[in-house]
Amino acid sequence: MVATDLATSKRAIAIGQDFPGWYATVGVHPHDCGGFDSTTVAALHELAKVNDVKAIGETGLDFYRDHQPPALQERAFRAHCRLAADLDLPIVIHQRESLDDVERVLGEELGSAGGVMHSFTGPPESVQRFVDLGLHISFSGIVTFKKADDVRAAAAEVPADRLLIETDAPYLAPTPKRGRRNEPAYLPHTAAVVAAVRNVSVSSLCATTTHNARELFRCAPLP
Ligand SMILES: [Zn+2]
Repeated sequence: MVATDLATSKRAIAIGQDFPGWYATVGVHPHDCGGFDSTTVAALHELAKVNDVKAIGETGLDFYRDHQPPALQERAFRAHCRLAADLDLPIVIHQRESLDDVERVLGEELGSAGGVMHSFTGPPESVQRFVDLGLHISFSGIVTFKKADDVRAAAAEVPADRLLIETDAPYLAPTPKRGRRNEPAYLPHTAAVVAAVRNVSVSSLCATTTHNARELFRCAPLP
């Protein structure tokens, strides 16, 4: 469960405590980083330190919706990267119309635990830049959308050991559920499209992405 502010960070941790096999991130989304300051960093640090938190985020830069000034988004993004490096946790990165700036910041700040470019929508030729930084690349329901040829081409480019798929619920439900409230039960539609563009079976794709996710987020082995 991916948090977007302090309240959802606490909520994600609480759900993770109630349901074995569910894991939390803590972080403040670039849309919500208006009041972000050193107190926020300290609160995130405390939450991540004392709980079984698997990643920091989501964080990043969104210059499409531009809900917060770019300089403030970048300050919060850098603070999340440093927190993740301090705690040796991966980061979950949100990007929209900001690939060059995200790459610049990560080049300076990314810790050794790596992270994931979540709901990736960059062009296929941008995949290698983020793989070279040590990141995983994750695809949401967008990869199933009719006009998303570029995203499908990007999904074909990712090395198998860096590939992930995700819901991004409640948004971005895959075709043929597009427009509905998204949920994990719809993920097979995303898996089917990614498997097809990579010319692998769905079961092989799922084994790969499950293994990659458990390694990146250091989850305990499945029983
Ligand atoms: Zn996002």
